[in-house]
Amino acid sequence: MIIRDIEFIGSFEKEEQCPTTGLPEYAFIGRSNVGKSSLINLITGRNDLARISSTPGKTQTFNYFLINNSWYLVDLPGYGYAKISKKVREKWQRSMNYFLMKRHQVYCVFSLIDSRHKLQSVDLKFLNWLGVKEIPHALVYTKIDKVKDSEIDAHIETIESELLEHWEYLPKTFRTSTVNRTGGEDILAFIEEINNK
Ligand code: GDP
Repeated sequence: MIIRDIEFIGSFEKEEQCPTTGLPEYAFIGRSNVGKSSLINLITGRNDLARISSTPGKTQTFNYFLINNSWYLVDLPGYGYAKISKKVREKWQRSMNYFLMKRHQVYCVFSLIDSRHKLQSVDLKFLNWLGVKEIPHALVYTKIDKVKDSEIDAHIETIESELLEHWEYLPKTFRTSTVNRTGGEDILAFIEEINNK
């Protein structure tokens, strides 16, 4: 898919404020520092797009970008910020859960996993929740340039076998590196395939 046109639509605090056009939506989410802003910039080919929503501690919002006038990329705030109080985190969690359950035009939630680390409990909890609620999702391993070529397969296999203790099968997975600029096109092709169905 060639990105011809990107329009920032807005940052919304509540699901009710989000666009009502019914166009397909694709959401990106992950722990803070997972590489979400960098990945969004890689996918869109812009260097500063995701900065708008990337400041930790700032009001957490659903950030909408209209792509090629035909679908929305939704930048969801990172989870797992240590600096935010438990109360604020829980409030945001509820708002996020409500958003994802209500928003059937989200055709895929791309869950970002940092491939440098073992699966974190906060990731597993979120992924299990997506599975239980039957929310369509895919896994995106970020920063794969940081793991040695000879180790990456075994490392990802460890993560996936842990997931398979909870799941019957794995969703679609992607491997990305914004340093090597790889994986972004695969994600765009996947989005295009769903949009053309
Ligand atoms: P966010 O908090 O999830 O939006 O993460 P950022 O995109 O701001 O990235 C967090 C840190 O990881 C930054 O220092 C990035 O330069 C770095 N980073 C992001 N993607 C990659 C990647 O693919 N490879 C490497 N080596 N570093 C990355």
